[in-house]
Amino acid sequence: MAAKPNLINGEWVGSGESIASINPSNLGDCIGEFALANPKQARLAVVAAREALPSWSATTTQLRSDILMKAAMEISARRDELGELVSREAGKTRAEGIGEVVRAMQIFQFFSGEAVRYGGENLPSVRPGIGVLTSREPVGVVAVITPWNFPVAIAAWKLAPALAFGNTVVFKPSEETPAIAWELMRILERNGLPPGVVNMINAPGALVGPALTEKVDAISFTGSVCTGREIVSRAIPSMARIQLEMGGKNPLVVLDDADLDVAVECAANGAFFSAGQRCTASSRLVVMSRIYDRFVEALVKRMRSLKVGDALVEDTDIGPIINQRQLDSIQRSIQIGKDEGAELLEGGDLVEAKTPGFFMRPTLMLGTNSMRINRDEIFGPFACVICASDYDEALAIANDTDYGLSSGICTRSHKLATHFRLNAKSGLTMVNLPTAGLDYHVPFGGRNASSYGLGEQGKSAVEFYTVSKTAYVAYG
Ligand code: NAD
Repeated sequence: MAAKPNLINGEWVGSGESIASINPSNLGDCIGEFALANPKQARLAVVAAREALPSWSATTTQLRSDILMKAAMEISARRDELGELVSREAGKTRAEGIGEVVRAMQIFQFFSGEAVRYGGENLPSVRPGIGVLTSREPVGVVAVITPWNFPVAIAAWKLAPALAFGNTVVFKPSEETPAIAWELMRILERNGLPPGVVNMINAPGALVGPALTEKVDAISFTGSVCTGREIVSRAIPSMARIQLEMGGKNPLVVLDDADLDVAVECAANGAFFSAGQRCTASSRLVVMSRIYDRFVEALVKRMRSLKVGDALVEDTDIGPIINQRQLDSIQRSIQIGKDEGAELLEGGDLVEAKTPGFFMRPTLMLGTNSMRINRDEIFGPFACVICASDYDEALAIANDTDYGLSSGICTRSHKLATHFRLNAKSGLTMVNLPTAGLDYHVPFGGRNASSYGLGEQGKSAVEFYTVSKTAYVAYG
């Protein structure tokens, strides 16, 4: 199988080595080989983006808008095929894969509109005879580094605004999901993106990370806290603008007046769908004592109804874990929980399927918030139930975390829902909804270890992908 090349300055460039993309639902299924870029190629990609910047940033907003809309139309027309590829490569169910592709299409559409809408202000000066104009210019060359768990939606929510506002890009997708990234590059190329405006490098981050990030104007990264820390330390000498979206340890609070069915569905969806491999997954279920037994019993029943298996099989609810390393890490966390005294109530074991893959049953433990299983992101179909005696304790537990991405509450009380919305220390708060599941037109981002720098999407995207200029003009 010939390795699919990297994209540098409009040329498809090979290399001596390659990485394979393997279907986590079926380890015998190799999706493709992808040329492994080296640091020299990463530097050439940055040079190409730098050279393409003057002409791309000078293009009309109409041209940029048109290219993004055409890309959206192609993604829309190919949603089933691309969705299947996402499922095959990232292990999401077919519905989740297609849903993610549709989301990518919506993001390209949205930023196609934003490309002609963003702008500045015209203000009176406080001094006589002077006008003040603020305007926005592209931030420059952007390194875009993405994880595997939303391989096309996260790429879209970084690439679309970067391009809409006149920036050029070096894109490094996760080495786990090169195939869908490669298709996205072909789509942008086919729909008129000039050479060098987006360049793509496939390689492990540790290999090309320094070369990618040392001479760029901005870095937009989504991934783990550990990688985020390394990137931020590297960005400081060059003073590149940074945007880091990282992990979560998101609480879902269930009050005793909650609609039990709603609460159970929010927990099951938030904790276990997409095999819990979402930064916004509900990994801590903080449940008030009066509803605790009923909630746990109903959730376990719901968990037992979820079918684990090959992501592409029609009735699968929960696909595989992405790779052996991640599966081992989740299993280690369960053992750590047991060693700390948490009770394993449901799941935790591996699942045999027709094909060899990384399948495990959704897992529920009972424990306290101080346990490591409730401090560290586990990133799998795992949740721990923590008992709280009243609302104040539940809120305190929800906020007692190093992270701060998403939080949720299930209650019929408008007063407590409002209090929670105002006092939860997280970038996103959900009322009677799962902690995961977002719109594309509003800002997204967390607090503390979950995010660093400017947020993403909606109006935050304009803030990150442009720099502001204030001009003073003397009249007459
Ligand atoms: P990861 O940190 O291992 O990798 C993310 C990306 O960074 C990959 O492309 C990887 O190759 C690259 N990378 C790794 N080391 C690098 C280095 N030294 N320099 C530059 N790049 C480097 O994360 P992952 O396992 O792909 O994704 C899972 C993590 O992503 C979880 O922690 C999850 O919570 C987080 N995530 C966060 C959000 C969010 O928006 N907050 C969304 C999705 C996933």
